Amino acid sequence: MNKIQNPGEIVYQYGEIKMDYLHPAGEIREKCLLALKETKFLASYCPKCHRTFFPARAYCQYCFEELNDLVEIPQEGILKSFTVCYRTQDDEPLTQPVIYGLIEITGASELLLHYLGGIQPGQLKIGLKLKPVFKENREGQITDIAYFTPAQEV
Ligand SMILES: [Zn+2]
Repeated sequence: MNKIQNPGEIVYQYGEIKMDYLHPAGEIREKCLLALKETKFLASYCPKCHRTFFPARAYCQYCFEELNDLVEIPQEGILKSFTVCYRTQDDEPLTQPVIYGLIEITGASELLLHYLGGIQPGQLKIGLKLKPVFKENREGQITDIAYFTPAQEV
């Protein structure tokens, strides 16, 4: 195989695949999602490698242990990274920028990717303390958290 010398010369094509699918959450994830409906953060705990996963997972991705223990973790986190989108993926301008954050939820071993809100792009700072803002009508989805917002005034 030849090493790619000029990535701009890679042949590509645009396309779309329409897929409707149903992805069962599974027993552990379902408990976590239903807890979100009650505005609680439930995470799964790995007793073998002592990692905690939020949203909950049925198996530890590091040591493959089956996870059956759920623990409630605080509804707070720290902003570790972010990106601000001013355009759609079709390159259309957005009326409001969409902000995505990688959030270290207190007590969880991995970062959570979610929306940020209630803050202007110029106010974003790594290390910002965040809290969730829940939707009023929750359905047991990760998007029951509408977005994360600064825990204190910025
Ligand atoms: Zn593990």
